[in-house]
Amino acid sequence: MRTIIIYIIAAVFCAPAAAAHQYVVRIDAGLETLRVSARFASPVDAVRARHRTAGRFLLEAADCETGLPLERRGRTLTSPQGTTSCIDYVVDLRSAAAAERRNEGLAPDNVVVSPAVWLWQPKTAAQPRVIVRFLPGDGIDVSVPWKAVEAAGHTYEIPPSPRSARAPAAFGRFIHVRAEPSAGTPRIALLRSRGDVDDDAIIGWVRDTAGYVSLAYGRFPNPGAQVVVMPVGRNGWKSDSPVPFGRVVRDGGESIELFVDERRPIEDFYDDWTATHEFSHLMLPFLRSSHRWISEGFAQYYQNVLLARAGRYEVQRAWQKLYEGFERGRKSRPELSPNEASRRGVGAATMKIYWSGALLALMADVELRQRSAGRESLDDVLDRLQRCCLPAAEPWTGPQLFEKLDSFVEEPVFMPLYRQYADKEGFPDVAPLFRRLGIDIEDGRVALRDDAELAPVRDAITRSPAGAGARAFIDRSKAQQAKRSEP
Ligand SMILES: [Zn+2]
Repeated sequence: MRTIIIYIIAAVFCAPAAAAHQYVVRIDAGLETLRVSARFASPVDAVRARHRTAGRFLLEAADCETGLPLERRGRTLTSPQGTTSCIDYVVDLRSAAAAERRNEGLAPDNVVVSPAVWLWQPKTAAQPRVIVRFLPGDGIDVSVPWKAVEAAGHTYEIPPSPRSARAPAAFGRFIHVRAEPSAGTPRIALLRSRGDVDDDAIIGWVRDTAGYVSLAYGRFPNPGAQVVVMPVGRNGWKSDSPVPFGRVVRDGGESIELFVDERRPIEDFYDDWTATHEFSHLMLPFLRSSHRWISEGFAQYYQNVLLARAGRYEVQRAWQKLYEGFERGRKSRPELSPNEASRRGVGAATMKIYWSGALLALMADVELRQRSAGRESLDDVLDRLQRCCLPAAEPWTGPQLFEKLDSFVEEPVFMPLYRQYADKEGFPDVAPLFRRLGIDIEDGRVALRDDAELAPVRDAITRSPAGAGARAFIDRSKAQQAKRSEP
């Protein structure tokens, strides 16, 4: 028995080391440089960085065994001996940070620079595991989207994932809320700005918003996700929104970047939908850009539904926003189908892309609820999707997603809707569906009617789940709100 245990322990500790590229990244306390030592699983011909500017910030690079400098051509480094099994290199972190606009509003001891700029990786067909261990200088913390391989400390494994953009890596003295698996909330890095920020209030808002998204199926879609909150500083970004920009990045895990105007009162953040929208994206895998209307549409649908469930929106306001969105979608590029609009890119038909998917989500949700007499909903189907398939390692297509969702229900709902609308120009007529749901439109204003056939379905869509966990969350959220608004 003991021998078996020893074998198991040996297997756990030795096997991964042999099959992984191992990086050690030293970060000095002044955030001037990253000093990186990379030991490869087997000798490699060349290493490469993903971002086109990476070469500009590489101060030196050498083979660790011979000390001979590596030869750089563009974004590729090669060893004079042909292959190399380990390299040491130094990256000018300060200059790399200065080249990114997102760092403008941050305090000098906080920087965000993507691994695409500083992580030089072997160009090999077979990708072994990549383990990165950070050794930060005094008081310096690290936030990356990767999977932590130890409870404390800074060792991570880079999981396989789509590459929708470049992941953020934050270094410095910032507020770091580590994931609480029991609470199901993501890791949060709140970068420090040059001005004053009410840290507790902003962190509270991010966590509450993560809680709103858990009102879909009782938990946050990916507790391993990394949230990076970046104050934009005095210059604003010329936006009226307290969250001028937000996005989800899938690159070695899932990151949500939220750019915030820290000068705005916290109530404004609670009234803004950006963070709810971004978090809602995590309920689906990353879809190829040609099916972007589905990912944007589902997030658009859920941001309104979830803010109503959380009590942030009056129910009527949620339907008003959905109605106005569908109107914008109807008027946007009527000559294009959703697939065609997505292929051309967001700039060409933003409202078409965002709202045709939202209407399809509503149609599917209503159908699921109606035919199951309320026992099944879009929430349940996405719950099953999360359990089986998320976070996904590869990008998905729209039909792949909808076929999977249909596999969770007795009669298909999603592919029939896809076949009907994805390649069809124009915009589905929402009026008959609204009539059945008891949603009347008078002079552009929504009025809810309770004697309609599907009024109970309509109410169920914006009702908070009855589970005790969800209720406790809403009570906590309201109590926190009340506390905050006291003078
Ligand atoms: Zn979006």
